[in-house]
Amino acid sequence: MTQTPQAKPENPLLTAWTGAFGLPPFAALDPGHFGPAFEQALAAHRAEIDAIAANPAAPSFDNTIVALETSGRALDRVASVFFVLAGADTGDAIEAIERDVSPLLARHNNALYLDRALYARIADLYARRDSLGLSAEQARVLDRTHTHFVRAGAALDKPKQDRLAAINERLASLGTSFGQNVLADEKAYALILNEADLAGLPDFARDAARAAAEERGHPGQFAITLARSSCEGFLQFSARRDLREKVFQAWIKRGENGGATDNRALIAEMVRLRGERARLLGFTSYAGYRLDDQMARTPAAARGLLDEVWRRARVKAGAERDALQQLVTDEGGNFALAPWDWRYYAEKLRKAKYDLDEAEIKPYFQLDRMIEAAFETARRLFGLSFKPVDVPLYHPDARAWEVTDATGRHVGLFIGDYFARTSKHSGAWMTSLRDQEKLSGDVRPIILNVCNFSKPAAGEPALLSFDDARTLFHEFGHGLHGLLSNVTYPSLAGTAVSSDFVELPSQLYEHWLEVPEILQQYARHAVTGEPMPKALLDRLLATRTFNQGFATVEYTACALVDLDIHSLPDAGTLDVTAFERERLTDMNMPAEIVMRHRLPHFQHLFSGGGYAAGYYSYMWSEVLDADAFQAFAETGNAFDPATAQRLRDYIYSAGNLRDPAEAYKAFRGKLPSVDALLKKRGLADAA
Ligand SMILES: [Zn+2]
Repeated sequence: MTQTPQAKPENPLLTAWTGAFGLPPFAALDPGHFGPAFEQALAAHRAEIDAIAANPAAPSFDNTIVALETSGRALDRVASVFFVLAGADTGDAIEAIERDVSPLLARHNNALYLDRALYARIADLYARRDSLGLSAEQARVLDRTHTHFVRAGAALDKPKQDRLAAINERLASLGTSFGQNVLADEKAYALILNEADLAGLPDFARDAARAAAEERGHPGQFAITLARSSCEGFLQFSARRDLREKVFQAWIKRGENGGATDNRALIAEMVRLRGERARLLGFTSYAGYRLDDQMARTPAAARGLLDEVWRRARVKAGAERDALQQLVTDEGGNFALAPWDWRYYAEKLRKAKYDLDEAEIKPYFQLDRMIEAAFETARRLFGLSFKPVDVPLYHPDARAWEVTDATGRHVGLFIGDYFARTSKHSGAWMTSLRDQEKLSGDVRPIILNVCNFSKPAAGEPALLSFDDARTLFHEFGHGLHGLLSNVTYPSLAGTAVSSDFVELPSQLYEHWLEVPEILQQYARHAVTGEPMPKALLDRLLATRTFNQGFATVEYTACALVDLDIHSLPDAGTLDVTAFERERLTDMNMPAEIVMRHRLPHFQHLFSGGGYAAGYYSYMWSEVLDADAFQAFAETGNAFDPATAQRLRDYIYSAGNLRDPAEAYKAFRGKLPSVDALLKKRGLADAA
């Protein structure tokens, strides 16, 4: 076929993706494709929705629920590629599109969830649900769909719906700006150092700093950036108290620097709008609204867990602080321990107490070996195999593996994108380019893990800290939740579960990193290839509860402030800095510890709403994961086949087939208690 000269080349986002594994044609993509592609995909989805709502036939499960489940495929495809790039390989062009597209998507979702004719059909089916002859999965889809629509405001009157729609659009724009502001502050900062400023830094930290300086146009020098692995490493090792303070201040001031990237006014507006939305929907606060559809059910239940942990964590952190202050004094330091000293002296104390130092451990945690370790764990638990495949992706640092099961059947594609770069948002996350489902044939997932590990200098192996390795296992656990998904209906697939349940598969997976047979096999020295000596391994595992008072306080303070700010009945004119300070004072936050994420850069809460009034979820899920790993411990085999099979059936492959409490009970035979969590964090005796 020949093309006429006038014909515009087709938009590769909208044509069928026929490349390997049905991957998007990344090489042919240009940011300019997204605007028109979104426009067309949104219109196509809208037309599908209108047809469902206007169907003259009486509502049936097929003509309403199945039709909804199969609608919007083009939009799913365009949006999934776009948001992968917006998170992992963004730039001015993508950011500009993101600012335009996020309110468009919000408007589109509003129109969908506030469509009264469509809702009338769903409500009719829901009222007749017991007489429709539905399977358990179909009943669950109907129930979840009905809940989504009601919670979005579908049952409200028109004026309230109009106000909700305006609020949602505004919140979407604010969320985009919030994340972009944090990224801008991170990009704008680099502490450029010379050889003489590096006292205390081990080789791997120097190498990473040298590579970061080179990327920023300072070859031969060293840069400390606000990527967590860069600045936390510096705070842990740098003997220069003055420089530690500088880096720390820049780190905690992200989003709070005045000027165009200051996030405080955005937060105040978002909190106010979320509160108003909750009241429109009949709740007294956003937290009440949010938790009503979570496993926890109420803010009081979440707070009950956090308060119990907080009380114990403060006691433990107090003892840790005293030990660190003693170390300062013993060294002749005439100053009170400050937040920028904690990690440095904790590292020293750890070294002294356990004869262990990060620089000694790190060569044993090579990125590639840890990836293999995560794969091997999945093989032993679930019979999965991973084969590297050479396929075109969006960035040269991203890698892909084909995943197959024990019978050789294709399970999905796994993409790992591990290194920090300036075009990537901070943090670590799992996302997908395609989710599993069976409604449109046997659709296999394409799952990504995105991390921010320091990239080594050319020719050097990438080395991880033990925490980085844990992050890798964590995200891989989310990845398996997507890869092993085995449901029919797309809206129930993989990680589409409540946010206080979604961290169970990820946090549970972290436990296998510490299983001795995995560590012995995969923690091998980067230079000698020798496995980690048993004595070192024992000492490493003995440090598990070291500094956990600090880590628990740093996290729990965030979870409590999140619940507090989203429990305000009416945010009025909120002074974010004062609010945060007052709440921390009220809860007796130790002066030497700063929240893991201060409000002005707390992306879980404000860069989108994923974890708003939901940061407690990590702790809630940790109660589950600590208890769930006990199920293996009780058999004496960390890979016990029968337990692994139940884990796969009811958790990793089950998506949102069941209510989370029911799913957990089906796996474990009972609901968890908090005991395993307290023991895991070394808080059982701190009262
Ligand atoms: Zn997670």
